[in-house]
Amino acid sequence: MSSTGEFDLIKRYFQRPQLQAPVPMALGPGDDCALLDIPIGQQLAISADTLVAGIHFLADMPAAHIAQRCLAANLSDLAAMGAKPAWFTLCLTLPDYNEDFLQGFSDGLVHMAQTYGIALAGGDTTRGPLAISIQVMGWVPTGQALQRNGAQVGDDVYVSGYLGDAAGGLACVHEDAAATSYLAQRFFNPTPRLALGQWLLGKANSAIDVSDGLLQDLGHIISQSQVGATLSLEQLPISKELAAKVPATEQEQLALAGGEDFELCFTLPRQWRPAIQDYAALHDLPISRIGQIEPTAGLRLERDGQAIPMPDNLGWQHF
Ligand code: ADP
Ligand code: MG
Repeated sequence: MSSTGEFDLIKRYFQRPQLQAPVPMALGPGDDCALLDIPIGQQLAISADTLVAGIHFLADMPAAHIAQRCLAANLSDLAAMGAKPAWFTLCLTLPDYNEDFLQGFSDGLVHMAQTYGIALAGGDTTRGPLAISIQVMGWVPTGQALQRNGAQVGDDVYVSGYLGDAAGGLACVHEDAAATSYLAQRFFNPTPRLALGQWLLGKANSAIDVSDGLLQDLGHIISQSQVGATLSLEQLPISKELAAKVPATEQEQLALAGGEDFELCFTLPRQWRPAIQDYAALHDLPISRIGQIEPTAGLRLERDGQAIPMPDNLGWQHF
């Protein structure tokens, strides 16, 4: 890409006012660095994710869907800490200067920026195989962030939304890259549970977002908290759309190990049972109590009180 082409591209697609408006910046993109002020009493929560075409998303998905999915996956990490989104950076590797792709991608970013209140502070643009690296930054009141290591024996284990939909949606997107059914949308436009994460501050003892599959992600909570847990399989939240798409035997497997749902899994002391039910009703968001934190290390499964062996496939791993 010639340097004029590159600067023109950045200006047209990534320095749009709609991308910079949601959260003020002392200095936005265009200089060597952006300058950002963090409110007093807040900590900066930052997280990054790289998404590579063909591995994390299908290159022939509509560009707006690719942008939405990449940003949603990152925002979900802020949600899992109880942080409020503020800014993000975007490092984009593009095979060519494709105006249709860039316009769609930029429109997808604008949609997300406006929906979730996050502003694009800067980034980098290079030529190469399509890959997207996003870093999100948010704020959380000092000392209050939700961590993976705080689960306490006796906590209830909860999960938001439905599990397995993104894995079911990926199958739909494989059949048709532009699919827009409910399940396909759960894959390309998952909902980062930002409001729930912020509501859990000062209540939950631990939280994580379900990116690699429930068993693996809850596994991180129990190992880092040095506790164990038992999950009740009959409590797993399965959407009616997933139930209609895949056989009953596969539904549970997708819910336990499918991954990429970007729901929150969290542990709450028992005293919050009524409050979390009220939250679920008020926000019309299913929140399921799926298990219990116990002193004995490891993860155990049961169905209607009967022990069930752990499945072989525990979820996604790159290596
Ligand atoms: P430098 O050479 O100093 O690293 P660049 O030429 O890469 O700067 O970028 C110029 C400006 O454009 C910087 O402020 C940078 O943050 C911004 N920028 C570059 N690529 C992107 C992008 N994909 N999205 C948002 N801002 C970008
Ligand atoms: Mg520079």
